[in-house]
Amino acid sequence: MTRTRASQRKQKVDGKRFTSSKEKKPQIEHVNVNQTTTELPKGLAHKVLQQRCTNGKKKSKQRETLMGLKKDCDVASSNLKFVGAHCSIAGGVSNAVTEAAAMGAKAFGLFVRNGRTWKLNPLNEEEAGKFKVACKEHGYPPHLILPHGSYLLNCGSSNPDVLQKSRDTLVHELKICESLGLILYNFHPGSACGDGSVDNCIQTIADSINMAHKKTKTIKTVIENMSCQGSTVGGKLEELRAIIDKWKPPKSKSEIPNS
Ligand SMILES: [Zn+2]
Repeated sequence: MTRTRASQRKQKVDGKRFTSSKEKKPQIEHVNVNQTTTELPKGLAHKVLQQRCTNGKKKSKQRETLMGLKKDCDVASSNLKFVGAHCSIAGGVSNAVTEAAAMGAKAFGLFVRNGRTWKLNPLNEEEAGKFKVACKEHGYPPHLILPHGSYLLNCGSSNPDVLQKSRDTLVHELKICESLGLILYNFHPGSACGDGSVDNCIQTIADSINMAHKKTKTIKTVIENMSCQGSTVGGKLEELRAIIDKWKPPKSKSEIPNS
């Protein structure tokens, strides 16, 4: 849960506040380990533990806590919910990480490029490096970061021009995610606007996903449920089911996304 800044200032880690000038990670100051550890990002919890275990006091008790916390950290890959926000990439993708950390987010979302244009600029390598370093430093493992696809995408479009641009953009954004070391990518499945039927739209969306998976190696695509507004597809569970049923596992083992 996001806490207010005032209440965050009162939080201490195990009764001690980490105020080293080297530590510019506000979320460490905000975390009360005794209150709950399962909410901590995996990397962050380990970081807190390292600091607790190097202060030379109450070592055996700390070792016990270490074991308990490690267990809790392993829960990061379970069904627990990690609350965060969609963060801005203004100035570079790495800024989303620092913004998330500054607000004490346990997870975060971001666009991986300017999603308002079809223009597909290559990813700035230096920024990609800074993003990966920042994720490590602030304790955000890839499964707690969910990029959001461009709102321009309609991977179920019956218009060949829109469909081609959507598929090119989908693959481009997935490749950016791979370069950023990410493993998930969320997008709006598509819309049956114009003369398209819902069934055709669902088939086209599934074809787009299968095509994109063939051209990439490690990213899992996440289809977002919609609000049944207009001709959008994915507002009904059976529509999401139909898309998933048409998913074809990549043939080559090396193409199978991490499970
Ligand atoms: Zn969305």
